Amino acid sequence: MKLNDIKLTNPYLKLDAEFHDRVKPDPLDKAHLIHVNRTVANTLGIDDDELKSEDFVRLLNGEFEAEGSDPFAMCYAGHQFGHFVPRLGDGRAINIGTIDKFQLQLKGAGITEYSRMGDGRAVLRSSIREYLMSEAMTNLRIPTTLCLGIIGSEHPVRRESIEKGAIVCRVSTTWVRFGTFEYYAANGMFKELKELADYVIDESFPHINGRPDPYKLLFNEVMVITSRLMAQWMSVGFNHGVMNTDNMSIGGLTLDYGPFSFLDDYKAGHVSNHTDVEGRYSFENQPAISRWNLEQLMKALSPLTPIEGMEKLLSMYDKVYVRYTHYYMCKKLGLEGTVEGDPELIDDMYDMLEKLQVDYTLFLRTLSHYKHKGDRTDLLATGLYHEPMNEWLNAYDERIKYIDPTERRNQMLNVNPKYVLKNYMLQEGIDAAENGDFSVVDDLFKLAKQPFEEHPEFERWAKATPKEFKNQKLSCSS
Ligand code: AMP
Ligand code: MG
Repeated sequence: MKLNDIKLTNPYLKLDAEFHDRVKPDPLDKAHLIHVNRTVANTLGIDDDELKSEDFVRLLNGEFEAEGSDPFAMCYAGHQFGHFVPRLGDGRAINIGTIDKFQLQLKGAGITEYSRMGDGRAVLRSSIREYLMSEAMTNLRIPTTLCLGIIGSEHPVRRESIEKGAIVCRVSTTWVRFGTFEYYAANGMFKELKELADYVIDESFPHINGRPDPYKLLFNEVMVITSRLMAQWMSVGFNHGVMNTDNMSIGGLTLDYGPFSFLDDYKAGHVSNHTDVEGRYSFENQPAISRWNLEQLMKALSPLTPIEGMEKLLSMYDKVYVRYTHYYMCKKLGLEGTVEGDPELIDDMYDMLEKLQVDYTLFLRTLSHYKHKGDRTDLLATGLYHEPMNEWLNAYDERIKYIDPTERRNQMLNVNPKYVLKNYMLQEGIDAAENGDFSVVDDLFKLAKQPFEEHPEFERWAKATPKEFKNQKLSCSS
């Protein structure tokens, strides 16, 4: 499809006027393309040669008005660090329309009715992080919003210093958040609340349509996909950093990339966001915080369906989460079926990794190559001391002795990435980009696309994180 042939629809605009602010993007000065995601472009049906055109940059800069264009920002509320904020909304993201089921949104495209004190902009560094990380997550098979492309500019943006503005064109099948429901519930707008619930069922859970008590079923769906998402984050060592209810996707997607990180050394209490002094959103708290967030969603849905039914569902959250975690971790350890002692084997591994300050990704990748009672040199080299790793490996040897070694290895290499985008790697890409060199962003994109491949040219990024960069915290200002 040529850009001129794009026909946008805007299903969200069919909702009551309370749901959105119609607002035109405010383009950046001297915009230029940094990277385009061809897979996403193909999914949208945009022709390859269109991606090199000036009009494509104009599309990402909010200047190209495709047929049906009617841009808007979405209204929502949210619990931020446990405190309810009655009105948030897209303060710097402008929705430009939907192609098939895919809703395009420009993040950093100027102020909206919901910008509060903000400038409606996004800086280059945070945009690069979101652009690369959403691609990395999807290729790790973790549900996430995606990005079509990223543009840079000469547009000055004031943060701690003056930086350059950028825009990522984000793509998702839903942009509704837990906080969207909270907005209408808190304002006693139950007609709009129902309208939203019906819209979300149509958009993300059409199989519920027409079933009895659809709003209870909606809650059940969100509970299950959120617990699965947590199990996936935890199994890959991802810390989101700001799990406010306005950053929780109703579609169970990883949403709003800010001060996130992948674990370097395994550390359950790792906190990515340096303003999170109490560690509310630490790595290990993520599953429990999701349950707390689901509780807020449950309260918001309670005008539509009796709360008792949802409470019963929420009481199953821990069990569902443990089930999913067990499933993903057994795959990562190459364990077939489930035998008694597996949960302990997995827990003991975490204890051992934490004690020995072992790089989480490197350990599991190295373990994938380990043969039953084989050479332990590479594995032992990932830790500070040989005990208790030897002890744990003895237990592991016992567990895998009847498992086909080739099958185990192949399965493990397919679920334990060789590369994850750690913060120090992203920072290398950002440092180069801020000097006008986008080649490192290109390299990191290749790794994001194929995290399970060997990529011998990037071997240094598969090693443990250099000491000086381990477990660093990031600022929220983006
Ligand atoms: P975040 O922490 O990025 O998820 O943002 C929380 C809220 O602040 C959302 O409502 C954002 O739209 C808004 N926000 C963040 N940064 C800006 C900005 N630079 N300008 C306007 N609104 C912003
Ligand atoms: Mg947000």
